[in-house]
Amino acid sequence: MTLRLHNSAARKKEDFSPRDPNRVSVYVCGPTVYNHAHIGNFRAATVFDQLFRLLRHEYGDDNVVFARNITDIEDKIIKAAQETGKSINEITSHYAKVYRDESRALNILPPTLEPHATDHIDEMISMIGVLMDKGYAYARDGHVLFDTQKYDEYGTLSGVNQDDMLAGARIEVAPYKKNAADFVLWKPSSDEEPGWPTPPEWKLESKGRPGWHLECSAMIEKSLGTTIDIHAGGQDLRFPHHENECAQSHCAHDAPLARVWMHNGFLQMGDDKMSKSLGNVVLVRDLLKEWPGEVIRWALLSAHYRQPLEWTTSLLEQSKKQLDRFYRILLDYSPTDNEVSPSVLDAMRDDMNTPGAMAALHGLRDIASTAKGADLQNALGQLYASGKLLGFFEQDPADWIRHGGMGKDAGNGDDDKEIDRLVEERVAAKKSRDFATADAIRNQLNERGITIEDGPEGSTWRRTK
Ligand code: AMP
Ligand code: ZN
Repeated sequence: MTLRLHNSAARKKEDFSPRDPNRVSVYVCGPTVYNHAHIGNFRAATVFDQLFRLLRHEYGDDNVVFARNITDIEDKIIKAAQETGKSINEITSHYAKVYRDESRALNILPPTLEPHATDHIDEMISMIGVLMDKGYAYARDGHVLFDTQKYDEYGTLSGVNQDDMLAGARIEVAPYKKNAADFVLWKPSSDEEPGWPTPPEWKLESKGRPGWHLECSAMIEKSLGTTIDIHAGGQDLRFPHHENECAQSHCAHDAPLARVWMHNGFLQMGDDKMSKSLGNVVLVRDLLKEWPGEVIRWALLSAHYRQPLEWTTSLLEQSKKQLDRFYRILLDYSPTDNEVSPSVLDAMRDDMNTPGAMAALHGLRDIASTAKGADLQNALGQLYASGKLLGFFEQDPADWIRHGGMGKDAGNGDDDKEIDRLVEERVAAKKSRDFATADAIRNQLNERGITIEDGPEGSTWRRTK
């Protein structure tokens, strides 16, 4: 089966074929680094990490160039600096690190390239120069704007009409705009705001800084080229962000920006989108204190990436249970080279049908649970390779079971020793038929989130929370 992806620009699934299979290029709009990300922010990072993994499987690890930028100059960052009294650099480098750490915890691969907006100011200035020379951009009142009337295809990516465009601009139409939909490429900076000198021919009085949309276009041009294979991001970015990226890059290069556009759906809390403005956010930082990163990843991939995903504690509990079952059966597996199962691949090649692929993993587990000898190792091998394609099974199964997926460092070593001692005491109590003491120890451990399991080979314990 060939890889098929839903192209938001064409509004349908299409066979995917990269321009150059030895250099498949992907760009995902990355985070604006000024605060802690919520789990909704991480949906795009996780589903497009899944795309990265799939493309690496299809074209070879070295043949996929995956760029995810860091937006380190933006009005929200400036505001955070003013509010906290910290420097912009202090804020952005701290939160970029937090973002990388949290990504790692969710088994999100580091991107091949991680361009930073502030390293591309020269490229942004020269792109604006090209747009002005070609008559697509104009300078007014300290700003440079993109003239949307000059670009016939404006609106075709998102399909928005004029009313939506106004809503998308979110602000009253500024007096310096020729048309309401025109957007800012460059804006003036006050003395307190970060800014860069503008070329004299623009005839702007003050220093300035780029508009957000321009940042991505310049980073894509520099790191990946003029027309890339896939451009991806959250569905809210379709308009105006991607529409604007499309317009300015297409006009600057006389070539389309991307051949395929992919957009993921929202993460919901009940009927609402999780969002800071509604105050219904769950921070990844807090989730990771309670849940293994793989469990959070499983939950994020449990719905198809274009569908809404409702975030609940029960989703996390279910995800944990499922991973526990996989890790339990993988205790019997000795890793060797294995192929991904065709059933998992077929699901993934069908526009990244992760729920289908996860169902196929369960099918493989069912087969393994009744197989013996070489058949068992084969089934487990396929299960393991398939799970790895989805970014799971990164932990040692014995560690997972013992620490409930929270990693070896979850409790400290002393804690583990004390638990071992209590479990032994309970075994001794049971032997001497002192059931009251045995039950008391079990209850005490339960309260600490430790479950004791009695089996034919003795008692073992694991963290369940
Ligand atoms: P924000 O932190 O609200 O500025 O969002 C930054 C980016 O994260 C947005 O542009 C979206 O693409 C993505 N995002 C925010 N909230 C959600 C959500 N609830 N579900 C999916 N993506 C989201
Ligand atoms: Zn972007």
